[in-house]
Amino acid sequence: MNEQISIDYAGMLPPFERRWAWTEIDRDAIRANLKNMRKLLGPDVIILTVVKADAYGHGAVEVAKAALGAGSKYIGVANVTEGMQLRRAGIKAPIIILSEPPATCVDAILSYDLVPTICTVEFALALGEAASAAGVIAPFHLKVDTGMNRIGVHYTDAGDFLRTVSFHEGLELQGTFTHFATADTADSYAFKTQMDRFEHALETIRYMGMEPGIVHAANSAAAIRYKSSHFDMVRLGIATYGLHPSNLTRDLVQLEPAMSIHARICALKQVGLGEGVSYGYTYRSPGGVEIATIPLGYGDGLSRLLSNKMDVLVEGHRYPQVGTICMDMCMFEVRNRKDISSLRNAQLSAERKPVEYGDKVTIVGKSGNQEISMDDLANRIGTINYDMACMFGRRLERYYVN
Ligand SMILES: *Cc1c(COP(=O)(O)O)cnc(C)c1O
Repeated sequence: MNEQISIDYAGMLPPFERRWAWTEIDRDAIRANLKNMRKLLGPDVIILTVVKADAYGHGAVEVAKAALGAGSKYIGVANVTEGMQLRRAGIKAPIIILSEPPATCVDAILSYDLVPTICTVEFALALGEAASAAGVIAPFHLKVDTGMNRIGVHYTDAGDFLRTVSFHEGLELQGTFTHFATADTADSYAFKTQMDRFEHALETIRYMGMEPGIVHAANSAAAIRYKSSHFDMVRLGIATYGLHPSNLTRDLVQLEPAMSIHARICALKQVGLGEGVSYGYTYRSPGGVEIATIPLGYGDGLSRLLSNKMDVLVEGHRYPQVGTICMDMCMFEVRNRKDISSLRNAQLSAERKPVEYGDKVTIVGKSGNQEISMDDLANRIGTINYDMACMFGRRLERYYVN
């Protein structure tokens, strides 16, 4: 009985009273980003919102709802599990799985009303047979490999492939697409080559008397940089989240980051000169400092590679993260005014109030007139904002604002 009560009580506690580390997702930013992307597109171009990997860490269900409410018509996911999750949450829009799932998924695809990508005859036949057995016609999108050299039917084989699979009465081609390898780089020749190959595949399909359906190619970078790549639909991932696919798009569209990462100081202590902090003592106190701890670590997506290489913000001021980032915690160095013998601390104390237990700390986002972006963190460890955002999506509790 007691156990039951305590479990219920824990369930009623708001998450941020259980844990002082969280993600804030600004749905207004997502809507504004879609609106700004919309301005770059012709009026008839459909927006598919890519919510794979739990919407790049932003929460697939909430993002799908916000995007569909802001004019997006299609949802894109990476696999069957992600599609099922959206259907169970009541998302009614068409959901396209952007790669070919294993043939063992065909019944789940049909019962969850998901639209798969097709790249192989084997999968196409398995899907067609399952559809016929269920008395339905299964829509699919054909993936054409024009140079990403990852998945898809080679662009020179697209026509023949379609003729083979469209014999099946259980299958219906809903769209034809490709994916760019270099739309976010300065290599416009490689981009142009992929465009030419895609056009060639489309021409062949039409020449053979078939209709390619909804034609789509552009990811965020291509949608922003190349109008010629818009065709009937664009597939927007990263731009939806307010992050730029690369520096080449920064001046071309205004985007507002939807995700910010925060925590509260759960410990604050003076650590004397020469004392080490955290595993391996990669940092030692220079004296006259306090060490603040926040309950957020690499298990929450704050890569251990960032140890001693990043700052955090408290009330518009920057503090260096120090010591090895732990799985569930990390530390930063504070110079509070308590030690008034130090001239530097006396100067600091005139500028700001001391940092205290319980203060809100911003790891990614704005604080006062300071800002730390997802790109700032990504650049420090040689990765990209996509990767950082996905990592922060793993364990942190999310709050939706606006
Ligand atoms: C992830 C993905 C996208 C979205 O790419 P962004 O760069 O995030 O816009 C589009 N198409 C396919 C096939 C994808 O896998």
